[in-house]
Amino acid sequence: MPLLDVRGLKAYFETRDGVVRAVDGVDFSLGEGESLGLAGESGCGKTTAALSIMRLLPQNGRIVEGQINYAGYDLTQMTQNQIRGIRWRHISIIFQGAMNALNPVKRVGAQIAEPIILHEKVDEEAANKRVGELLELVGIHKDRAADYPHEFSGGMRQRVMIAMALACNPRIVIADEPVTALDVMIQAQILELLERLKRELGLSMILISHDLSVMAETCDSMAIMYAGKIVETGSVREVFKDANHPYTKDLIAAFPDIEGPDVLPGYIPGLLPSLIDPPKGCRFHPRCKRSWERCVEEEPHLESVGDGHRSACHLNTGGGPGP
Ligand code: SF4
Repeated sequence: MPLLDVRGLKAYFETRDGVVRAVDGVDFSLGEGESLGLAGESGCGKTTAALSIMRLLPQNGRIVEGQINYAGYDLTQMTQNQIRGIRWRHISIIFQGAMNALNPVKRVGAQIAEPIILHEKVDEEAANKRVGELLELVGIHKDRAADYPHEFSGGMRQRVMIAMALACNPRIVIADEPVTALDVMIQAQILELLERLKRELGLSMILISHDLSVMAETCDSMAIMYAGKIVETGSVREVFKDANHPYTKDLIAAFPDIEGPDVLPGYIPGLLPSLIDPPKGCRFHPRCKRSWERCVEEEPHLESVGDGHRSACHLNTGGGPGP
């Protein structure tokens, strides 16, 4: 039994221009102690999927279909009161750009203590002790709890956000673009930290990133999202070694390979389609170099292309143009 099992999830946003189908029928699961990467360009639905799990969609967003099963409960059916018992204590999230969201006029320790006092119902002394432990856990001396956010570098602020996410001992941590705003050296340190915490605390993790190299370093399995759908999924090793979907191949080609031949990385022509009125058939067809008539008419579904490896492309069921 997976720890978290997402089935047929659809999450839409009402906007003045129409209904944005940000997540449009995705399935994925996360095992105990596993890390799953959700990858794809910005706007593919990764963050909406994460916010749906946390039941933190903005006011104009709603889960319209599907199940999010965690420990025998369907989170989509819980009231806000019930979900408060799950959020932070069982599943927590490091929000995108969160390191810049620390309150500048409040000491860092007091900000970490807040969720502990609120959710664990402990007194201030016990919360402060826990804050010290958490800071040490993420590599910051406990005395720094008395400092303000401006006294921390970007990397240290991100460590503080990780400490906050761990404050109530969750089983699952969702990290949304945890290293995007950091320089390369600090990125490596934060990824190493996440990897160590996962190992030492037995955490399960969902890592969201547009950067495939982040997945390669930290995840066991990955799901590639395009325009609200998962188009390829499998172990990280399998997807990198033997990418099947043309979108995955383009994404991989768009990243520089420092060990490979001295060539410029590729790029994916065109833009993501509107999710108010997505293209019929395969949503990637307007940008796909291999599309043909069938791709315009018929939607491909995830099919097995290897051991635990699935891809949604008509090329796998025969036909189509040459390479
Ligand atoms: Fe390209 Fe067609 Fe495959 Fe879609 S189904 S990725 S358009 S070849």
